[in-house]
Amino acid sequence: MNNTEKTMDKIIALCKNRGFIFAGSEIYGGLANTWDYGPLGTRLKNNVKDAWRKRFIQERRNSYEVDADILMNPRVWEASGHVQSFSDPLLDCKECKMRFRADNLIDDFDPEAHADGMTKTEMFDYIKAHHIPCPNCGKHNFTDIREFNLMFQTYRGVTNDAKSVIYLRPENAQGEYVNYPNVLRSMRAKLPFSIGQIGKAFRNEITPGNFTFRTIEFEQMEFQTFCKPGDDLDLYDYFKDFGKQFFMDLGLFPSLGWGEINGTHDRTDFDLSRHQEYSGQKLEYIDPFTNERYVPYIVESTYGLDRTVLALLCQAYDEEVVDAEKNDVRVVLHLNPAMAPIKAAILPLSKKLGDKAMEIRDELSKSFMVEYDETGSIGKRYRRADEVGTPFCVTYDFDSETDGYVTIRERDSMEQVRVPIAEVEDYIASRVQF
Ligand SMILES: [Zn+2]
Repeated sequence: MNNTEKTMDKIIALCKNRGFIFAGSEIYGGLANTWDYGPLGTRLKNNVKDAWRKRFIQERRNSYEVDADILMNPRVWEASGHVQSFSDPLLDCKECKMRFRADNLIDDFDPEAHADGMTKTEMFDYIKAHHIPCPNCGKHNFTDIREFNLMFQTYRGVTNDAKSVIYLRPENAQGEYVNYPNVLRSMRAKLPFSIGQIGKAFRNEITPGNFTFRTIEFEQMEFQTFCKPGDDLDLYDYFKDFGKQFFMDLGLFPSLGWGEINGTHDRTDFDLSRHQEYSGQKLEYIDPFTNERYVPYIVESTYGLDRTVLALLCQAYDEEVVDAEKNDVRVVLHLNPAMAPIKAAILPLSKKLGDKAMEIRDELSKSFMVEYDETGSIGKRYRRADEVGTPFCVTYDFDSETDGYVTIRERDSMEQVRVPIAEVEDYIASRVQF
């Protein structure tokens, strides 16, 4: 019994085999750092989005959601600073042609060197002085360091000239910032209020990914709170706790470490001041009580959606010894039932009972995602449901024909109860809410 250890390889294999996450463009050999969500992964991701939307938009006062375009006026990215300084310092090995980030080379060589505080010239000199070898071929023969902008760039229209350059957004936030005056006016909003958005962002990074942890295309759930200068510090503390609570409610625990899936920042008036300057539009707020004018401060709270999904999968994955003597181990995803892609599996004990079981499936499907499974022994079908985190299995058996009850088996405890068919929907619905 030594195979009950969680590893990323096992989680990746489960994701692939059970329809959570596939390698992007797989039949063409894939494309580095791209992944496609399969049927169950898409549901899991949608459940996270729904939970976020409920907690951040629906339940909060003065909170509005927008869905801004991925393509924006290129001036936005000049104002935000991304055209100027959103870049990685890269260099190529002249021997094997591999490309590396200079700061990574230095940090891997000596974690105490702190490359993030060095200029381009200092990094180049350090690599030379320490004769840092190429991690791929071991030789020391690098090009100069060049700044490589992380924004994906494309051209609008038919001519590929500098005037037609547009970018895929590298973050969602600017879509919320530029819509500040629209939301303020159309929703008759008053400070403090928030604009949230769920959407894709793109970064042309060369750093390898660790599954879906770092990808070139990813989805963010962002929340920007506009406030009076001076109110920002309290809001910053508030949203740090609010975000932590959200993750705990999803079923994550701090032992995983938080830092990289959520960031909360006090942006002060930097963003709106820059947009005011670059757009020439006044972005001041006029306090309706005091008539005071000021550019609002922003407290930003950003959530990585793909990283949240990955964290949920990693935490939920378990190999549980059911019977040590028989060497019986079950793979189970202990997902929060509200996050589970499928809420219930409907299982006829015998194929002869399929029609009645299918009726239950059709009825329950009006309320939540369910699955019908009639293949294999009931034990095997339970295990298949456990493996994808389905919290309930509903078995229709020969007694159901006469007494109108079905057996509901719960995933984590594996306990079974008899429930009248008419009450199954309520039984499950009350247990899968976020
Ligand atoms: Zn090399």
